[in-house]
Formats: sequence, structure tokens, C-alpha cells
Amino acid sequence: MKQIKMLFYSIVSLLLLVGCSEQHHKRQEQFQQWIQDNGKVKVLSTTAMIDDLVKQIGGDHLDTLILIQGELDPHSYQLVKGDDEKLAFAQLIFYNGIGLEHGPSLQQYLVQNPKAVSLGDQLYQHNPAWIVHVNGQKDPHIWMDISLWAQTVPFIVDALSQKDPAHAEEYRLNGQKLMQTMAQAHQEAKTIMHQVPVDKRYLVTSHDAFNYFARAYLSEEGEIASGAWEKRFAAPEGLAPESQLSASHIKEIISYLKQHQVHLIFPESNVSRDSIRKIIQAGKEQGLDVQIACCALYGDAMGQPGSEGDSYLKMILYNARTLASHMDPKLGIEHSNNPQVILQGKNERE
Ligand SMILES: [Zn+2]
Repeated sequence: MKQIKMLFYSIVSLLLLVGCSEQHHKRQEQFQQWIQDNGKVKVLSTTAMIDDLVKQIGGDHLDTLILIQGELDPHSYQLVKGDDEKLAFAQLIFYNGIGLEHGPSLQQYLVQNPKAVSLGDQLYQHNPAWIVHVNGQKDPHIWMDISLWAQTVPFIVDALSQKDPAHAEEYRLNGQKLMQTMAQAHQEAKTIMHQVPVDKRYLVTSHDAFNYFARAYLSEEGEIASGAWEKRFAAPEGLAPESQLSASHIKEIISYLKQHQVHLIFPESNVSRDSIRKIIQAGKEQGLDVQIACCALYGDAMGQPGSEGDSYLKMILYNARTLASHMDPKLGIEHSNNPQVILQGKNERE
């Protein structure tokens, strides 16, 4: 039996190693292509959500690369071997800012770097009221409201136009078109969520990534103006997922679940489920009917290529459809149980 177990673990380790080295190889290839001297502007974005906008605005005139790839946590990302080269080679770097990329080695590189553009900080300077604060800190998850993320498009257009004035008009037109598409998708997300009765639009996920989503899509107009939208969302972990959960956090979430009769907690595709498992356990001990939802939401990372979250707009609309279909199953809204966002590929009902 012991030998069979050993063999099983060896095979799993081998498969993981092969997977990792394949991924490494693919990223190396991407990097080699990116650094080729072909007259295009070399742009590095910290996250895939930024890269998605940059590509649509810049089209063929750019070569783009993402620094924090896959499902890595952007909050705590620290530079790894090869990142220095990417950051040094890039002619323009776009990053989220307002506290997202707070890993010291990366932050050190971004702050006061003349070729690095912080979309979040520009957004804050443009209109401080747009930015949500949690316990006195700016909430960096600005991509979770499509209409707000669309406001970063002009900053990208400006930076690209300064770097490459010959194509400025093209960047301006692409930016305009993108903002129109985003305005439509924003309305679509709102329409999907507002089919759910107002007393069912309460959300609990792993960490504080969904404040902007709650303000834009779960709340009523009056709540946005009064600030009462904040009651639409709660999470056991703070602005950055830290997997540390105090007894008072657990108590707060349990009382939120009771108060708003929430029976499902949504995991996030790139965050450990440990915290929400603890909440479920504590809730059950108090006789609460609460489970982990079948499907993870996209919070801090886009989905893998080929998944339902493999572009920025698909990621947000997937979240809206998944939430609406669970908050009110009677609506019959379809969403796919994408295996890539059902961690370990199983329906987790505990
Ligand atoms: Zn986050």
C-alpha cells in the first residue's frame, strides 16, 4: 500500500514538474519574441486586466507582455529571475497602483520610474470620489467595475501617444471604440445582476476584491449616492488575501450571513479556500445553512486562455452570470461550470 502511495506521489510530482517546465518554456518563448527588434513599442503590464486594454488600444504597433502571469497573487508579487530584464527592456510599463502591487521588490521598481504609468493613481487624481476606501486604505480592485476601468483608457491612450506620436490618432480612435464597448458591457452586467431581487443581492467571497463590483452592480442607485452600497458585500480577508483569520472576522461574517440570509460563499479562482472553509465550519456549528458555491469567481486574475474568463470583459460578465444564477436560480440564467474555475474540478458542497 505504502509503495502504491509513493508511486502515486512520484507520478503527480513528475506531472507537475513537466507542467511547470512547459509553462516556463512557453514564457521564455514569449519573452524572446517580445525583445525582438522590430520597431514596435515594447509595453509591459503588471496584470492581464491591464494588458487586455493596452492590446486593444495599441493593436499592431505594440509588443505586449504581462509581468504577473497566470493565477499569481498581484498583491504580494515579488520579482523573480528574469523580471529585472523585462522591466529594464520595456519602453512603457503600465501598473494598477493605489496599493495593488505592494511586494517590496516590484514596488521599488515602479514608484518614481518615469516609464511606469499607474492607472489607479491617475484615476484617484482625476476624481478621488471614484476610489473606495477600506479601513482608511485605497481599494485597488478598480477593474471590478467596468465603467470605472473604462476611465483608465484615456491614460493609456495618452501614454502610448507620447511614446509613439506617429500613431496617436489610431490610439485615440481605438480608445474611443473600446470605451463604447465597455459602456455596453457595463450595462449588460448591470442588467444581469438587477434581474435578481434587491433583497437577494448580497455577496460574500474570500477577500475584499468585490467592493467596486458591489457598488456598480449589486446596489440600487440611492445606495450608491448614500454609501449604503457597502452592505452589499463582505469578505473574511482584507484588501490583500492573507489567509489569516481572527475570531472577530469569523464572527462578523457569520452575523452578515445571518442578517442578509446568505447561504452561499463564493471562492475566488486564485485565492486559497481555507478562510471560507473556516467560516462554513463555524456557521454550521451555529446551525446556519451555508455552503461553498460550486464555481469560483475571477477576482485578482483573469482566466487561462480558452476559459470563460480569458478576456477582461468575459471575466466580469462571467462573474455577473455566475452570481445571478446562484442568487436567484429561478431566473434560469445560464453559466458554465468551467472546470478551470472549479478548483480541483469538484463540486464543493460541505
Ligand atoms: Zn485582491
